[in-house]
Amino acid sequence: MSDTEVQDAGFDDWLDAAADDEAYSLECPEGHHSLPPRRVCPDCGATTLEEVPLPETGEIETFTVTHVPTPAFEDDAPYATAIASFGSVRVTGQVVDTDLETVETGLSVELEVTVSETTGERVLGLAPASGD
Ligand SMILES: [Zn+2]
Repeated sequence: MSDTEVQDAGFDDWLDAAADDEAYSLECPEGHHSLPPRRVCPDCGATTLEEVPLPETGEIETFTVTHVPTPAFEDDAPYATAIASFGSVRVTGQVVDTDLETVETGLSVELEVTVSETTGERVLGLAPASGD
């Protein structure tokens, strides 16, 4: 599907922005937030979406630790995948730059674009926020 290519491109651009500490969410006139790639607000269907900066730090809401990964990520295991809330949006990413034992709900994290040791592709990471 050509839709997939468009979505990949959109997310790649967003990774570029995140790598430059310029991550953003998309806000519709009703105040709903979503992440690229989006053309329509997933909550109300509004098509006027504005880029607004994401908060610098988010908070881990839930996470899972993977000890036996799929082959595509075998060199990265074990690793934790977390869902963190950044203001009004939720971001899913691999927890990086910390010991797995320290990963917990409520942990303050920052976005960090990292490269998978297995695939060499860029992935979205969540690193513990500095200054804690
Ligand atoms: Zn909306």
